[in-house]
Amino acid sequence: MSDKAVLDRLSARRTCPGCETIYNLNDKPPKKELICDACEKRLVLRDDDKPEVIKDRMRVYHEQTEILIDYYSRKKVYFKIDGDGIIETVFEKISSLLDRELARSQEVEITK
Ligand SMILES: [Zn+2]
Repeated sequence: MSDKAVLDRLSARRTCPGCETIYNLNDKPPKKELICDACEKRLVLRDDDKPEVIKDRMRVYHEQTEILIDYYSRKKVYFKIDGDGIIETVFEKISSLLDRELARSQEVEITK
């Protein structure tokens, strides 16, 4: 997922200050503009989801987390999933990958 896609997704996120439901103005908007479907409070942009904060979180990711890709790749337990797209599609990709890897690890167990 590109930095721009992360920025677009997170900065479109709005949270209900009443019941904490999270909406996304692009993928999962409330029925009434900026009003919570469940409790009708006005949705807010959390500090965490402000563009300057998101950019800082991405900087930390690149500096501290990205190095793990190399580490797990060498152990052959790193799998890349395209996180662009709607949540259900990304979830489906993760589920089928896990199913496939689980099935493969069980085959390895049986043949040992
Ligand atoms: Zn609410």
